[in-house]
Order: sequence, then structure tokens, then C-alpha cells
Amino acid sequence: MLASPAWRLMRVCGLALAVGTTGIGAAAAQGSTTQGSATQGSATQGSTGARAAKPQYSLAEASSANLVTTPDMARLTFDLTQDVESEAFVLTGPDRVIVDLPQVDFNLGSDAGKPAPLPEKHAKQASVVESFRFGLLEPGRSRIVIDLGLPARILRSAVEKTGDKYRLVIELAKTDRASFRQAAQGRQLPAMVPAAVISSGISPTAAPVSKAVIVLDPGHGGPDTGAMVNGVVEKTVALDFAQDLAKKLETAGGFSVVMTRASDLFIPLSERVRIARAANAALMISIHADTLTESGEVGGATVYTVSDKASDAASAKFAAKENAADASAGLDGQADAADVSDILFDLTRQETRAYSHVFARTLVNYWKVAGRLNKNPQRAAGFIVLKAPDVPSVLLELGYLSNASDSAALTSAAWRDKATSRMAEAIVAYFADRHGVEKAAAGIPIPDPGAKLRQAEAGAALK
Ligand SMILES: [Zn+2]
Repeated sequence: MLASPAWRLMRVCGLALAVGTTGIGAAAAQGSTTQGSATQGSATQGSTGARAAKPQYSLAEASSANLVTTPDMARLTFDLTQDVESEAFVLTGPDRVIVDLPQVDFNLGSDAGKPAPLPEKHAKQASVVESFRFGLLEPGRSRIVIDLGLPARILRSAVEKTGDKYRLVIELAKTDRASFRQAAQGRQLPAMVPAAVISSGISPTAAPVSKAVIVLDPGHGGPDTGAMVNGVVEKTVALDFAQDLAKKLETAGGFSVVMTRASDLFIPLSERVRIARAANAALMISIHADTLTESGEVGGATVYTVSDKASDAASAKFAAKENAADASAGLDGQADAADVSDILFDLTRQETRAYSHVFARTLVNYWKVAGRLNKNPQRAAGFIVLKAPDVPSVLLELGYLSNASDSAALTSAAWRDKATSRMAEAIVAYFADRHGVEKAAAGIPIPDPGAKLRQAEAGAALK
């Protein structure tokens, strides 16, 4: 099917990248056997092969395709004549990404679909995408199949409109094998709704339910004790709370809980982030407590999200204190690995931060019923541990060890039981509302590359 490849190298966005030219008459189901072959070096190509009869209504037409792929990520675009809905998901055996569309007239040459060999420095490395194919799946439905060279996750699959031009943009990033397999399994599942939520009315055995991975991150550990006041130690308070919360989530069902530490162990901040990313976490919650030498009055819980600019001076100070955790355990300060300037990261990070905000708000709303909140309970600052670009993350500061009633609560098993119960409810609510999150986040003007991915989790089976 992928005869006569015609590829070339281009530089795009300052990166050395391999770019496949357009054209490939894919479309086994299109009724055509061969289409006009592409010409070497042509970037945009049309062809007019024999086709099945076109429906009467107006079809979207794809006039060109471009693939940009590196060992870490890939971007595949199709220029279209009109907007279309797309649904993207991953499949294993062989590894591929599927993008389902309404019927699209792929008016392209016959050799699009395979990238050029990688630039010299990447020559021995595999690239994320090996090739792609497209065609009519059945009347009314077209499909793009992207053959992967490496396990990848879908960052984005959506149509962008610029003036009167439409472009389908599919962005992929390399991931690990376990995460990829998990995403492929998740695709066949109806939705990321915990079993506890669907226990009434719908039989949990009717369909397997995808387990959302929750990473609980008890702050500090080992030589890094965190705050200490009158024998109450932050690292212990955080671990006790996280372990209790893990049990509540396991009881709720539908979650797979990963702890960054389950004992009194030192874990560097960057390692905590790495654990969350490697686990393909749907949510990361870092658990801490604070202390203020200047005031015993200040108390109550605070939920922090990450931001480049702190919401207030106290938050900036708190983040600086928490970010010094590695140093306090004798580790050299490390560069912030998430500070990668790249459009794929930027888009994903924006979306991730929006979800982090939604969860922070949910948690504050649930927490206030059972526990004390700081008078300014939702804040933001530059916490290193919250910087996973693709994992919605919050840092829950349980309270102040310097505050007498907070300190009494934080060391009480009864309080912990109540607080972790409310928190588990907040987490269940957040995931139950996952498909309604766009609404909740409506005030935030950001792209939402994850929307199609979530739809894909409930997507149709491959034919
Ligand atoms: Zn801390």
C-alpha cells in the first residue's frame, strides 16, 4: 500500500525534523486502486484517482498532509476544507494510533504517510511515527491509522481554524510501554468513572471500569523531616494521612493508588514527579503541613496548584521552603526538568494546569464541610513537585503545626479518618465529573487537547 515513498527533510520550528511529503492514496475502501503518485519534494499534492461515488452532502476534503517526527514526539497535520469531529485512541499489536473522522475525501497523492529517515543525529534512533495510512472505513466514516515506531501517547487530536482554513492536528509524545498498554486497554472501557459512582443502577460487571491512577505523595521522608513543632513531624503526619487516604480510595474502588513513598524514605522531588509520570497518573496529590514561627494564629488547610508566579508572598515563601527539600536531605539542587520550551509541552501543560485548578476547587469545596480551611484556601506557587507537565497535580497543605488546633487535629486518628473520607469523596466527584470538566473550566481560555483522548477512552472498537 505504501509504494513509491517520496520524502524530504525540512526544518520546522527551528527543530531538525523529518517530514514526509503529502500524497498517498491510501484508502483501500475508497474504491480506487492507485492514485497519482507523488513527486519528489512536493509538499502539497492533489490527485484524482478513481473514487467511489461521493455522497450528495458536502464532504470535508483533505488537500495536504504533513508529518513531523522525532524520537520524542510527532505532529501530523491534514489541511481540511471544513471542520470535522475527530476521535483518537491507541491500539496495541501492532502499536498504532487511530483517528476516526466523519467521511473525508483524502485528495492527496499516493505516497504520503512515511517520514524521511531521521536527521543524522537521530539516524540510529527510532522515531515516534513510522508511517501513516488513511481511507474510508465505511460510508460516512474515515480513519487515519498512524503506525508507531515507539509507544506514544496522544497529546492532541483536534481541528484548528485559522481564518477560513481548517487543519487537523494530531500530536503524539513518546511514552513508556506500560503506560501505552494501559491506555490501549482503557480505550475499550466506557469511562473513567470509579466503580463506587456507578454502583447504583449499572452493574459494575456490565463493563470493566478503567482504573484511574492516583499518585499520593507524602512530603519529605528520611533525613528530610519537613516542619517540626513540639515533637510533631511533618513527614510522619503526611505519611499517615496518605496511607489512610490510600485505604479510602481502595475502598471506593475504581482507583489504582501509587505512593511515592510508603515508609520513612527520602525521595527527591524530581523522582516524585517521575513516578507520577511513569505511572501515567490521572492525578497527583502531594501532602504536606507547614509551620509559621511568626504566628500561631494562622491555621487551616490550603490547596496549592503550580504557577510561574505565586498568588501571594506567603505562597512563594512556602514553595521556596518545600522546594528546598532535596537540599535539606543533602542533595544538590537540580534543574527543573519540566522547563522544556516546546509547543507540545506548553499545550499539554496548559491543559494539565486547568485540570489541577478544577481538582483544587473540588477539594476545597469538599474539605470545608469536614475540616478547617485557611482563609485563603486555594493558592498557587512554583512548587517543583507539581511540575509534571501532563499530570494534574495539587499540593495539599493540611494545616500548620504552629497552630494549636491544627496540630491537635493532624495528630488525631479520628480527624484523619474524617478528613480522608471527605477527600476520597472529592476525588470520586472529580473523576465522575471528568466529562463535565470542560464546563467547569469554561472560564479558562485554553485549548483542550485531552478532550479527544478522553472520548477515545470510550471509543468504538477497531474494525
Ligand atoms: Zn512540606
